[in-house]
Amino acid sequence: MCIVPRHFTQVQKLLILRRANYKCQGCGTSLDAKNFEADHKKAYSQGGATEAWNAQALCRNCNRRKSDKPQQP
Ligand SMILES: [Zn+2]
Repeated sequence: MCIVPRHFTQVQKLLILRRANYKCQGCGTSLDAKNFEADHKKAYSQGGATEAWNAQALCRNCNRRKSDKPQQP
């Protein structure tokens, strides 16, 4: 059984960030090292791969909003 990594590597993150032109793909705000977060397009919990093609660049706000789903107990 192979273990799929949950988090993107620094190299992957850089690629994702550059591919998105250093802009948040949710709201278009400029991204820098402080507010950039790599997000799984298909959620890791749903079998989404931790690969650059399954990633999008989001700012911290968008990523938080996205994960703010009402699924907490
Ligand atoms: Zn955003």
